[in-house]
Amino acid sequence: MSEWQQVLREGVDNLEKLAERFGHDVIDVEALKPAFDNFQMRLTPAVLEQIKEVGDPMWQQYVPTVEELDIQDGMIDSLDEDGDSPVPNITHRYPDRALFLVSPVCASYCRFCTRRRKVGDPEKIPLNQYESAFEYIRSHPEIRDVIMSGGDPMMLSDRRLEYLLQNLRAIPHVEIIRIGSRITSHLPERITPEFCEMVKKYHPVYMNTHFNHPSELTPAAVAALGRLADAGVP
Ligand code: SF4
Repeated sequence: MSEWQQVLREGVDNLEKLAERFGHDVIDVEALKPAFDNFQMRLTPAVLEQIKEVGDPMWQQYVPTVEELDIQDGMIDSLDEDGDSPVPNITHRYPDRALFLVSPVCASYCRFCTRRRKVGDPEKIPLNQYESAFEYIRSHPEIRDVIMSGGDPMMLSDRRLEYLLQNLRAIPHVEIIRIGSRITSHLPERITPEFCEMVKKYHPVYMNTHFNHPSELTPAAVAALGRLADAGVP
């Protein structure tokens, strides 16, 4: 097991552990269970460190609430991504770019996730259906930009990421490859020297990171962004 996978295991991934950490008076395990069952929960050590007090902005991003089960607009796929999905794992809405879901899991799960209908469920973002996605991109020369997403692509092994990058790079009309990931704040340990060496072979590769609050810009997150920049990943 690599070091980042070990760090991931040290996080909090169920309500009992959350209550042990923050107190049973704060975390009502029974009341929150429906929200937990509806959408996975995980807080990495980095995220746990970013929470300074109960109810702060970091807490609100990751700790389930009873209120999240109140459906206000009735739309499960609020961006209608499935409506623009010609083959499994691909959303093709804008002519020159395609969204490619490559991973069902995330290091931490954000309660606001707009893809919660799929994220966390390997059956809904299957890892064995990449080929039809490659074939779709190959047969659409107007696609010059592929955004890998999920879940978080950086939860895949370097080997699997390299397989994806290799296949996308072999398609002549794909100019830009983007990795959509919150890993720099969730699990900065994932930006390893090995990943940085591997990704250099497939440029231009960009990472679309996602920071919601200054508390996420920890020294470890900033250092991870620096390692990416040094590897030529804007
Ligand atoms: S990291 Fe992205 S895909 Fe994963 S739970 Fe957060 S918003 Fe959703």
